[in-house]
Amino acid sequence: MQNAEYINIRIHIEGLVQGIGFRPHVYRNAVSKGISGTVENSDNGVDIHARGTEIKIKNFIHDVQYTGVPPAAIIQSVSVTSEAKCLYTGFKIVKSSLQSNSITRISPDMAVCDDCLEDMKKQPERLNYPFINCTNCGPRFSIIRDIPYDREKTTMAEFTMCNTCRSEFININDRRFHAQPIACTRCGPAYFINNMSIKNTDIDNIIRYSAGLIDSGRIIALMGMGGYHLVCSGMDPDVIETLRRRKRRESKPFALMMPDIDTIQRFAILSETEKKLLSSVQRPVVLLKQIPESLPEQINSGLDTIGVMLPYMPFHYLLFKELQTEVLVMSSGNRSSEPIVISHEKAVSQFEGIADTIISHNRRIHNRVDDSVVFASEKTVHIIRRSRGWVPDPILTDLPVDRLASFGGELKSTFALGRKNHIILSQHLGDLENMETMEFFQESYSRFKRLFKVEPELFVHDKHPDYLSTRSALKIAAETGYPAIGVQHHEAHIASVIVEHGLKEPVIGVCYDGSGYGSDGTIWGGEIFSGGLEEFQREIHLQPIKLPGGDTASKHTWRTALSYLYQTYGDGFKSLPLEILEWIGKSEGPERVNQIQFMLKNSINSPLSSSMGRLFDCISALTGVCFENRYEGEAPMLLEAAAKPEEHGHYPWNITENIIDTREIIRAVVQDILKKVHPGVIAARFMNTVVQFSCESVSLVKERTGIKNAALSGGVFQNRYILEGCESELRRRGFHVYSNSLIPANDGGLALGQIGMGAVAGG
Ligand code: ZN
Ligand code: ZN
Ligand code: FE
Repeated sequence: MQNAEYINIRIHIEGLVQGIGFRPHVYRNAVSKGISGTVENSDNGVDIHARGTEIKIKNFIHDVQYTGVPPAAIIQSVSVTSEAKCLYTGFKIVKSSLQSNSITRISPDMAVCDDCLEDMKKQPERLNYPFINCTNCGPRFSIIRDIPYDREKTTMAEFTMCNTCRSEFININDRRFHAQPIACTRCGPAYFINNMSIKNTDIDNIIRYSAGLIDSGRIIALMGMGGYHLVCSGMDPDVIETLRRRKRRESKPFALMMPDIDTIQRFAILSETEKKLLSSVQRPVVLLKQIPESLPEQINSGLDTIGVMLPYMPFHYLLFKELQTEVLVMSSGNRSSEPIVISHEKAVSQFEGIADTIISHNRRIHNRVDDSVVFASEKTVHIIRRSRGWVPDPILTDLPVDRLASFGGELKSTFALGRKNHIILSQHLGDLENMETMEFFQESYSRFKRLFKVEPELFVHDKHPDYLSTRSALKIAAETGYPAIGVQHHEAHIASVIVEHGLKEPVIGVCYDGSGYGSDGTIWGGEIFSGGLEEFQREIHLQPIKLPGGDTASKHTWRTALSYLYQTYGDGFKSLPLEILEWIGKSEGPERVNQIQFMLKNSINSPLSSSMGRLFDCISALTGVCFENRYEGEAPMLLEAAAKPEEHGHYPWNITENIIDTREIIRAVVQDILKKVHPGVIAARFMNTVVQFSCESVSLVKERTGIKNAALSGGVFQNRYILEGCESELRRRGFHVYSNSLIPANDGGLALGQIGMGAVAGG
């Protein structure tokens, strides 16, 4: 009679469920419940056939999704169907016969898990062993050379498993069952100091030595998961200054590492979302509101945020146990704008004169991955730099992206490949302004093509003719005989939101960023569009201004400020008693203002730009907050940091003939400056004004088009004040508001928008 209660079902699970211990998880669950059947990897997921009593099957379906799920798993969809009666002997993991054209998902790298940290204290063969890992943790993408993800195809191939490791590797009930990078003191990789080969057992010495150096104010280069870090004490202003000088990094903020959440809370204000982000398996650098004056100003000169991450490698944990200081500067191990160093040999030549000691290991890094950078606004994650922990997770789409490639922009470069319904976005590659970064781009591109088995047949690029990414796309297209298409920079930003959220209906897109090549040949960057992937209309834009000196104006914010003054007051601007004019006279020489005036008047080397970034630069310079961008976005970021959030005032503005007239804003700002209003108040009033005219523009476009979806993108939306302000005001006006979350709003996300536009244009 008992048999009557038995049922057969098939469960199909899609998502990141391969190569991260999902099948053993299903197996253990089934065996513990006395369920018989099979589990195997399938196209894009896992297939389970199960037989058991109705109640047990019900629990099984639940537990497979919710109980003891490997932390790295991402379950995207679960479908359960009933099947005809079929008897099984026990429960088995079936070796899958994956078809050659199936999509293989490669797991991103993961932080060491708590179980491994425990094992590191008690397993005799892994006491303080800094390469301990299991199916739930450790390196993945950074060590993969080829697929399928087997040890021989990773940089662990050169280490032969000892008997202990092997017995765990083949034991389905072990946490290290099929953990490809499995290793122990006896058989695995080891750290060493400079060229001195040190035995594994000396890890305690290496840790003590490293901690001693850091605590005594030295800088070490430390090989990590996806590249080197330059590490020093985060509490010692002298060494931080030394690092800045040696790295030639004037003021760009340094990332920090702190041992635990409690420590972080002594230096920053944390929300629950931020706590979760910090402790997530991706362990990104999270931008947090700093508690004022809690850290040396050399870390983030003038900003009100700090970028902090928790330890993610066993070495980091061992180091903090030995260290006196609780705050480490963990700066990416590179020289100025080159890609981070990944090999010991390169470290020796590159860090000469920068690091006092180099600590390396012999588990080679194959794919370079920087630390990812994120921030949270309310409960939403916003990725600024998408790299370790997220790459190469695909973005799922129903657009026809198969065999498409897109090449991104120039700064914060990434590319994307389309494979069936997956878009694979590359890791952050850096600014394509030097040979080394270009080589990294080309190398990664050919590796991704091989790993994901894509031979692109359409190349999408930015419309800027001089971007190295554009030239590469055109060159490869010419070589392969396939077509290439150019898409407009800011339309691609808005498209990235559409693709990320899978939007089907038209949107009103607000794109604010530094600069990009406009369809009319001028520089754009303050644009309000309507439309969708097929076509966008430029509806409203910021009033263009001349940039005296072209590109140099985006560095020297005072040049842009002069241009705005000239546009607003004409020649009369020179008689305004403004601090900025005095400053230019002193630092650039008394004739400078006249020269710039001459350039503006006669339109000499002064291209037009409607960039929102430049308007921020202008206000930053006028208020004396920042006269020069020493890194991209410094002046706007300092302006955001200076703003007093309790200030709710704003300036007058108007939109005439689809142009947002900025002259009234400038006039009002100048009046406030002359009245000695605090720069923080001016900054807040200015940003409130931006929120207002942006939302008003969106409403105007809605009146014309009837569109009720708003999409926000571009680097300026990394400004929390502007992002949250626009989101809440647009929602109040009844819009559905979308912004980038897991894809950067800056140029790091361009490739995603480009591939979406390419899919529609080419399909
Ligand atoms: Zn683990
Ligand atoms: Zn071993
Ligand atoms: Fe951009």
